[in-house]
Amino acid sequence: MNIADYSVTKAVLDRHGFTFKKSFGQNFLTDTNILRKIVDTAEIDEQVNVIEIGPGIGALTEFLAERAAEVMAFEIDDRLIPILAETLERFDNVQVIHQDILKADLQTQIQQFKNPDLPIKIVANLPYYITTPILMHLIESKIPFTEFVVMMQKEVADRISAEPNTKAYGSLSIAVQYYMDAKVAFIVPKTVFVPAPNVDSAILKMVRRSQPAVQVQDEDFFFRIAKASFVHRRKTLWNNLTNHFGKSDAVRQKLETALAQADLAPSVRGEALSLEGFARLSDALKEQGL
Ligand code: SAM
Repeated sequence: MNIADYSVTKAVLDRHGFTFKKSFGQNFLTDTNILRKIVDTAEIDEQVNVIEIGPGIGALTEFLAERAAEVMAFEIDDRLIPILAETLERFDNVQVIHQDILKADLQTQIQQFKNPDLPIKIVANLPYYITTPILMHLIESKIPFTEFVVMMQKEVADRISAEPNTKAYGSLSIAVQYYMDAKVAFIVPKTVFVPAPNVDSAILKMVRRSQPAVQVQDEDFFFRIAKASFVHRRKTLWNNLTNHFGKSDAVRQKLETALAQADLAPSVRGEALSLEGFARLSDALKEQGL
């Protein structure tokens, strides 16, 4: 018997009179095959510490705890804390932390692992309403995790892992791929959750690169340029950049020089530029003092 077995999940929810909170993105997994596949994809073993975001009633936590050295699970909903104490009672390698992951001081928290020197992986069935803020918060937190294996809305997974010249490619692809190698591992149908979400889901596997995908003079500026280049997707780079920097003759002159220096035609669209293209562009714009 597993927590994720539908009959067990239902019994736990009924016993505690639990009602789902949509505002917390609560869609609980009730398919043990999918859970096994997630843990396999994350290649969890006793030499790995795991951070989980949103354990719910512990469906995924149970599978993680059976294989990992230790699991630290952050849950925002106070109603779930006593439930987790009950469902995960048999494990001595799980710490449930009652906290909003976006407010957690992760650097300090990870010192609470019994063996803080083991590699850290982040594995979660994410609350979909804050998928992107969570990913960016964790990536930018500088905690030394080696990979993320997370469930999210399929459409967001496609955007993160997208290649240039596709509809899904945009500033989110660039923001994540700068740090991580991202691939969709498998698709998950709506039917395996209670309650079923409105959208299909995907497991995205993101492995941290040993160094960023491209070298740039100024990271913040690079991300700003990538964002500005996709504000109007159907417009050219030239249009998006003049919207961003202004249309004066002086700006136009600098933009022309920078684009030529980066070997880019003004008529090109942002979606055609690889990370290398954006790196060349942002360095050239910076050199022009923009
Ligand atoms: N892991 C469980 C499963 O797979 O069945 C539950 C996943 S459910 C999609 C998302 C979980 O994240 C819920 O338990 C929800 O309460 C929790 N959550 C939502 N926002 C959160 C936040 N900001 N910090 C921590 N947990 C959060």
